[in-house]
Amino acid sequence: MIKHGGLDSKSANEVNAHLLRLKKEALTLGASDVRIIPADMVPVEDEIIEMCRPPFCEQYGKSANCPPHVMTPEDARQWIRSYNSAVLVKIDVLPGVLFSEQGLEVFRKVFVISARLEELSVGQGHASSKGLAAGSCKAVFCRDIPCDALIKDGKCRCPSLARPSMEALGINVFRLAREVGWEIHAILRKSDPDDIPSAMLAGLVLV
Ligand code: SF4
Repeated sequence: MIKHGGLDSKSANEVNAHLLRLKKEALTLGASDVRIIPADMVPVEDEIIEMCRPPFCEQYGKSANCPPHVMTPEDARQWIRSYNSAVLVKIDVLPGVLFSEQGLEVFRKVFVISARLEELSVGQGHASSKGLAAGSCKAVFCRDIPCDALIKDGKCRCPSLARPSMEALGINVFRLAREVGWEIHAILRKSDPDDIPSAMLAGLVLV
């Protein structure tokens, strides 16, 4: 149960009930596990966005939701402080699947869950709720085409689903996953899936 400083107990109970509704929805949409955490538990570190650059990720600078087009880690730290709670979602996946074409579908699922929870939360009066996903929206939604949102006066092709990833803002997903007790292993392009004990993707909704 999250403590909500500044709220009376009735309002705090309403917020907690809302967070539990989001958790239930995430599980219904196929999340493997969900944790409700205080927003100030979300670690933002400047070095994390280095993982968004080649050779780790080829999408650097190619999407409006990827660095350097998103807020800096410093700004993200301030922004996250304006929230009280967060819903952390994970999807377990076989390591080999992440290295296959099917892997994109798992990334897509994280976008779908994050965007749906954001939409639900906003619709229930938490107007500033914001979902974050895993990986680049360009790889999932605009794989072989340019990002329209980077073109002058252009708009995102998938505004209802595309979100920045947690890493793009500097969130240390590894640290966060471990802090909530989830098993997580480093997976690089050169990794051998047979050497990876388990894999997961994570999304986050700030409320
Ligand atoms: S979904 Fe496509 S158009 Fe939208 S921000 Fe991502 S790459 Fe750009």
